[in-house]
Amino acid sequence: MPVSDLVLASRNRKKLVELEALLAPLGYRLRLVSEFSDVEPEESAPTFVENALIKARHAAAVSGLPAIADDSGLEVAALGGAPGVYSARYSGVHGDDAANNAKLLKELTNVPDEQRGARFISVLAMLRHTDDPVPLIAFGAWPGRILHAPRGAQGFGYDPLFLDPESGLSAAEMSAVAKNAVSHRARAFSALLALVRREA
Ligand code: IMP
Repeated sequence: MPVSDLVLASRNRKKLVELEALLAPLGYRLRLVSEFSDVEPEESAPTFVENALIKARHAAAVSGLPAIADDSGLEVAALGGAPGVYSARYSGVHGDDAANNAKLLKELTNVPDEQRGARFISVLAMLRHTDDPVPLIAFGAWPGRILHAPRGAQGFGYDPLFLDPESGLSAAEMSAVAKNAVSHRARAFSALLALVRREA
């Protein structure tokens, strides 16, 4: 089988390793967008799908290669789906996990367990080239509940506040292997793999 290069619209080497293992059997070798450009496109759209497309299109444009991007976040039912696409900058500062978690707990003060339902969302977009008119789009959701206080020290982002109902653990109490078996990203990856396989 011929090997094709595919660019990942992420600066995160862990994401590259994780995706590479999934895509290698299909004949793809992953490269990071940072090999081609230091510019980060603005993720300004109101949907995960559009933001994933913005990132994938930028990666395809700067590399001249097919590209893949993911966009993810947390939706809390009692907050009308917030923080949603603003998950990374909910507190106002991009990527400040502690401040984002503190704000989430404050917004949910006095909200009882049965109204603390939430889900992590991941959308993956794959473009065969910059102007691909039919991108492959895959979606994954991980349903759970927001805790009243942080638990666990692993993972990142909202993991310490997110209870996985199946295991009874917070996402930050799960091992990386256990989280990767059930997470929104893992579910989106397997949905994308099914689309890619259908194309092959
Ligand atoms: P992005 O996909 O890098 O844009 O991530 C958006 C934000 O959503 C992150 O900064 C986190 O706050 C949150 N998020 C996405 N996935 C996870 C996860 O697996 N655990 C915890 N937080 C997450």
